[in-house]
Amino acid sequence: MGICGKANLPKEKIMVSNLWSHIHLVCGCHNLQDGYVLMEPHAAAASNTAASLYGNASMNMFYSCPKYYPDNRKKGEPECRNHVSMQEFEGVLGYITDHLMPAILSGTDMDLTGLKWTSKQGVNYEVIKYEKGDYYVKCVNNKALWKK
Ligand SMILES: [Zn+2]
Repeated sequence: MGICGKANLPKEKIMVSNLWSHIHLVCGCHNLQDGYVLMEPHAAAASNTAASLYGNASMNMFYSCPKYYPDNRKKGEPECRNHVSMQEFEGVLGYITDHLMPAILSGTDMDLTGLKWTSKQGVNYEVIKYEKGDYYVKCVNNKALWKK
């Protein structure tokens, strides 16, 4: 079942409330032909600095490439520092929602493959696949990759 299920709620309401679970961030630092490396939510529990700065638990969450962690890498594979904050992910939701609304209201295709944009923080995004109501969004945070 896609984003628009057979419920009695208005379509756009269903979409907005469920959209987050249909967005998959794909790390853009790897060969997409080898399969998608999906970014996963993590808590920055080890960072006391972040906790004292932000306080809010949800603001301590971020999406990171699984290949940042040694257990997910093959021998000799470099670590991947690509990650985005929860606020960035919310920005992705907002951006896709804005582009989906006209399609939903006019009942046309919701396939947004090819949609590209850059966030205010300079993160590059591109919808690379739409399948069964799910959006695969390639993401590259150049700032994270350059910063040591
Ligand atoms: Zn990666």
